[in-house]
Amino acid sequence: MRVVLLGPPGAGKGTQAQIIAGKLNVPAISTGDIFRANVSGKTELGLKVKEYLDAGDLVPDEITVAMVKDRLAEPDAKAGFLLDGFPRSIPQSEQLRESLAELGHSLDRVLELVVDEDELVRRLSGRRMLVDGEMIQRDDDKPETVRHRLQVYREQTEPLSGFYEAAGLLSRIDAIGEVEEVTARALKALGVDDAGQPSAD
Ligand code: AMP
Repeated sequence: MRVVLLGPPGAGKGTQAQIIAGKLNVPAISTGDIFRANVSGKTELGLKVKEYLDAGDLVPDEITVAMVKDRLAEPDAKAGFLLDGFPRSIPQSEQLRESLAELGHSLDRVLELVVDEDELVRRLSGRRMLVDGEMIQRDDDKPETVRHRLQVYREQTEPLSGFYEAAGLLSRIDAIGEVEEVTARALKALGVDDAGQPSAD
């Protein structure tokens, strides 16, 4: 199954991506995670993208799209994938459609995690991640950057919701509630049961 997970920062995409991909037995591919790993590893790619991540701006498409194309060409993504954080704009979605078409594939479904903005700001300001045994705040979760990331989301990424809806691919998922409840709603929208198998109804 080829699935895109859409939703603003703080909607729980990373958490749900891991769980849902595990059930579907496909890799969860997070562009944000790949960028962050490169920044902390101080790779050539990391040095190029650090300023964008720090500012909460989108990394230019020529870098991001090439990286995703390479990742989707890896053997583990042949039979399916769950993309978390890509595409993030209409041009990126067009590039994705073309890359998949070259491989004779297309998307099966786009899940949009829906959370109201007050809740997002509340979640993001309290969010911490575990790095080397320590709970730290992501640099781009600082309040000023959070506001900017939400604005970038509204301007560049939110239009994808209507775009994929018009293509008949979108399922909106209420992402307020316990993690398990949100996962259950997402699996239902994908038409699979808790073991990732096609559901009877
Ligand atoms: P995320 O972990 O998805 O919140 O992404 C963290 C940061 O990585 C974003 O604020 C962007 O700077 C960068 N990023 C992640 N995915 C993309 C993408 N599809 N296009 C451009 N930049 C991205």
